[in-house]
Amino acid sequence: MLRGRGCRYRGCRFCDYHQDASDDEAENLRINRETLDKVSGCFSHLEIVNSGSFCELDESSMQAIVDVCQKREIKLIHFECHWLYRRHIPALRKRFAEIGVQVKMKIGVETFDAEYREKTMRKGIRETSPALIAKDFDECCLLFGLPGQTVDSMKNDIETALRHFERVCVNIMVENTAPLQPSSQCRRLFIEEIYPIYKEHPRLDILLHNTDFGVG
Ligand code: SF4
Repeated sequence: MLRGRGCRYRGCRFCDYHQDASDDEAENLRINRETLDKVSGCFSHLEIVNSGSFCELDESSMQAIVDVCQKREIKLIHFECHWLYRRHIPALRKRFAEIGVQVKMKIGVETFDAEYREKTMRKGIRETSPALIAKDFDECCLLFGLPGQTVDSMKNDIETALRHFERVCVNIMVENTAPLQPSSQCRRLFIEEIYPIYKEHPRLDILLHNTDFGVG
């Protein structure tokens, strides 16, 4: 997990990941180098996570990522990006392709119910078509366990995501300081009725807690 300048959008009503950020580029680089120094390259894959989008990392940190990819012979790298920055993705893909690294870009879609996503979550994705959202991205995150979500809506989101994206990550909402808070009933429905169906799916990761990937 790296530190950047922080999310510029800051609109999502379920998110409070806003303290993990700084405008001090030199200090961000120092922290990020410490983390990148731990990359062994044993799987030839690297996942970059920061509280925001890849373009909110400073250029010096991005160059440090490029350097570690070359040093550790990384062949595939994952980044995250908000839909608002999708036009920056081709240049990033090109930059890494030039050093022989394939980029997989992940978007937090959260749900394909556009009305819920924009009126309740305020995700800031001004596109309703799943196919068009997926055009610039390879992977997506969904967010479940929120008030109003149902077994059918969650199933529909997972099936839609699997149709349009190579890989899908389901996050279950946990309590935080944001205005939109989890629904224990919806979480129970997910665990009882959805989790058993999809827990072994080869293209689906399920994070019952937001630190299940070992970051955060
Ligand atoms: S979920 Fe991502 S895009 Fe939304 S406010 Fe949080 S960091 Fe920003």
